[in-house]
Amino acid sequence: MAHITSGGLFRENIRRQTELGRKVQPILDRGLLVPDELTVSMVLDRIAQPDARQGFVLDGFPRNVDQARALDEALAREGKSIDKAIYIKVSTDELVRRLAGRWNCPQCGAVYHELSMPPKKSSVCDSCGSALHQREDDRPDVVRTRLEVNLKETKSLLEYYGADGKLAEVNGDMDVKQVKEKLLAAMSRPQKVS
Ligand code: AMP
Repeated sequence: MAHITSGGLFRENIRRQTELGRKVQPILDRGLLVPDELTVSMVLDRIAQPDARQGFVLDGFPRNVDQARALDEALAREGKSIDKAIYIKVSTDELVRRLAGRWNCPQCGAVYHELSMPPKKSSVCDSCGSALHQREDDRPDVVRTRLEVNLKETKSLLEYYGADGKLAEVNGDMDVKQVKEKLLAAMSRPQKVS
């Protein structure tokens, strides 16, 4: 399945200095939400790409109920719908700790944490050898704003997908291996019995 992250798409636009990238850079730098009309059209364009035809995992989208509705409506026009909405629940203190210690590889996308998943050689990607970097918006002050903004919208999103019977909750406060197992279980479709 295609793994589509709205934040990743924005960062790619910023890196390539596209018109969208120039528009959204100051918004990402402050940790605020990009307006829905820009976000929704960018994600729907991405979903329409051939590699997403067999299915996709959306990460960071939708972030509010209007985005969720726009997604459902666009999929319904093609006779499709989402299977599951997965809520990974993590305490705010733990999220701040994780984001503040996060290092990313700009080349291959690998993600590290300076305490819980450090690279073998400091600041160098194990997979491709590139220099790791920290996201501007992972600074503690911006992290707090991002979490506040997201939490405000999360409650109504949970209600939206809960009412639809599509919500699965995963405890994200465990270690990576355990969370992965729980996520895979939450994502698996019921097997058809022949
Ligand atoms: P993320 O990589 O998911 O942490 O997103 C980084 C930033 O991109 C966010 O702080 C927002 O500024 C923007 N962004 C990502 N996804 C969305 C979305 N669904 N709606 C609005 N803004 C978004």
